[in-house]
Amino acid sequence: MGIDAVYRELRRIARLIAASGLTRSPFGGNFSVRLRDGILIKRSGASLLDPRREDIIFVPWGGTAEGASVELVTHLGIYERTPAGAVFHLHTPAAVAISLLPECKGGCELVPADVEGRLFLGKIKVVDVRRPVGSPELAEALGEALSEVPAAIVRGHGIFSVGGTLTEAFARLAEAEFSCDVLLRLRLMGVGWPAGP
Ligand SMILES: [Zn+2]
Repeated sequence: MGIDAVYRELRRIARLIAASGLTRSPFGGNFSVRLRDGILIKRSGASLLDPRREDIIFVPWGGTAEGASVELVTHLGIYERTPAGAVFHLHTPAAVAISLLPECKGGCELVPADVEGRLFLGKIKVVDVRRPVGSPELAEALGEALSEVPAAIVRGHGIFSVGGTLTEAFARLAEAEFSCDVLLRLRLMGVGWPAGP
């Protein structure tokens, strides 16, 4: 897959992000795609709601590239530890809120209460590290979590998800945010947490 194909896929996903209202933080997030000789990753500061072809940067394995996302080290760490073909990351409100519950200090596992989340995700892991943005410890913790589940939340930061393609990784991220939203609503209704049918 080349930059042009990734760009077309990204334009479709941008429309889905806007239509779904998944996030109100257009600059908070990034993506990457595995290639044979490296990865394609978002340019730092570029908007996910209005992606441009020049905002997709190639980084060779073991190398770096000027302007690449601050999460470059995190994405590389995930590819090192999983067979993922693509990684997606967004700052979504329900996932961020639920990861900040006292129960998730130091990390936790969320069991979706909704059928869809259980079917497609199984569990969602919350990782809690001292430096939660673009650090080697985040890369290691997320890489390990995403080798077991398709979507994980960095506590107080956002969701990272993996998939065979960018579209699959994004769908899993949207699924995880939906499941977190349901858990959050249950919590707000006083049903307790974890909670399920
Ligand atoms: Zn982020």
